[in-house]
Amino acid sequence: MKNFDPIQIRKDFPIYSNIDQPFIYLDNAATTQRPSVVLNELNNYYTRFNANVHRAIYAIGEQATQAYENARQQVAKFIGADSSSIIFTKGTTESINLVAYAWARNNLSANDEILVTEMEHHSNLVPWQLAAKATGAKLKYIPLNDDGALDLDDPDQYFNNKTKFVAVIHQSNVLGTINPIKEIIKMAHHVGAKTLIDGAQWVPHGHTDLSNLNSDFYAFSGHKMLGPTGVGILYGKPEILDEMEPFQGGGEMIKSVTMDEATWNEIPYKFEAGTPNIAQAIGLGAAVQYINNLGLDNIHHHGEKLTKYALDKLNQINGLKIHGDQKERGPVISFEIENIHPQDLAQFLDQDGIAIRAGQHCTQPIMDKLGVFATSRASFYIYNTEDDIDTFCESIEKTASVFK
Ligand code: PMP
Repeated sequence: MKNFDPIQIRKDFPIYSNIDQPFIYLDNAATTQRPSVVLNELNNYYTRFNANVHRAIYAIGEQATQAYENARQQVAKFIGADSSSIIFTKGTTESINLVAYAWARNNLSANDEILVTEMEHHSNLVPWQLAAKATGAKLKYIPLNDDGALDLDDPDQYFNNKTKFVAVIHQSNVLGTINPIKEIIKMAHHVGAKTLIDGAQWVPHGHTDLSNLNSDFYAFSGHKMLGPTGVGILYGKPEILDEMEPFQGGGEMIKSVTMDEATWNEIPYKFEAGTPNIAQAIGLGAAVQYINNLGLDNIHHHGEKLTKYALDKLNQINGLKIHGDQKERGPVISFEIENIHPQDLAQFLDQDGIAIRAGQHCTQPIMDKLGVFATSRASFYIYNTEDDIDTFCESIEKTASVFK
C-alpha cells in the first residue's frame, strides 16, 4: 500500500478545498467525487477540440473521435474486454434497459423464466418486471438470507430448462455483499440461460475480468468510479450484440436508410443512436486512468481496511444494528439505531459536516425482507480515512444521546 495516502489523494479532488471543513463524504455508493484530471479532461474537450464524433473530416472532429474511441479502449482494457463489446450508455440503468428491450423482448416468450434476486437495485428489477409483462415470461427470484447472502443451497429450485435470462447484482449497494457471480453465471449457462451482471457497485472497488467471468452482459456507471454523470457502460458479448436488434433508432446507428427501411451499423455503434455523451466518455477514460495509477489492488485493500475498522467501531455503539453479516463484502454499511429515524440521523450528522444516505436505496424488496422502512448507509472510497470514521461514530453517539 506504499504511496496510497488518502490525505494526499484529497489534493486531487477540488471539492475538498472548495467546501468549508469539516467535509466527511460517506455517500460514495450513491456517487463519488471527481478528481481534477477528470474535470480538466471535460474542460479540454469543450475548450480545445469540441466537435461531433465519427463524421467530421476536420482536425478537431478527428481529435474528438480519437479521444472518444480511446476512452472506449481504456474502459475495455479495464474490464478485460474487446472494445467492440463496449457500448456507452447514460448509466447502469440505461444499460440494463437496453438489454431488457433489445434482447429480452425479442427472445423471451410465455413459459420462459427470468431469474433475478431479492437483493437487486430497482434498476435491475423493474426492467425485468416490464420485460416479463411484455413477453409473458415469468419473473422468479433467488431469496436473500438474513445474513445478507443469497440462498443458493438448492440451485435446482431456480435454475431449470425454462430459465432463459439471469440478472444479478455483483455487489449489493445496501448490504455490501459480494455475490458468487462466477458460479451463478456457470449455473445459468448450464441451463442455457443468458446472464447480465449489475456491476455498478463492484467495478470501482475491485478487478473485473470479463474474459474470465464469461457473463453475456455486464453493466456499470461512470459516476460511481470518479467519472462524470451521464455515462455508463454496457458490455455485451460481440456475437450476441451482433444478433440483437437495435435499442433506439436514429443517426449513427445505421448503415443505410431508405424512406421505407434501414440497415444497421456494426457494433458497438448499432447501439449508440444519436450524438453520444462525448465529453462524459472522455472524462470516464481519465477516471479509469486515474484509478489505474492508484492501483485497483490498493483501492480494494483500502476499502477493506476502512470497512473492517468501521464495522468494529459501529458494533461498539449501543443500540446500533448492522444489516448483513458477510465476510465477502464491499465498503458499504447499512445500519439502524434504536429510536432514531434514519432521516433524522442523516440530518444530525450533516450538522457535523458528515454526508451519509438515509432511505430505501432503491431496494424496497430488501427493506421488506429486513422488516424496516429505511436504513442509514455509509460508504467509503479512496479519500476516506479512519479519522473520518471516528468522527462519524462520535457524531452518531452524540445524536443518540439527544434522542435518549
Ligand atoms: N445498480 C446498483 C447496484 C446501484 O447502486 C445503482 C446506483 N445507485 C444503479 C444500479 C443505478 O445506477 P445509475 O443510477 O447510475 O443508472
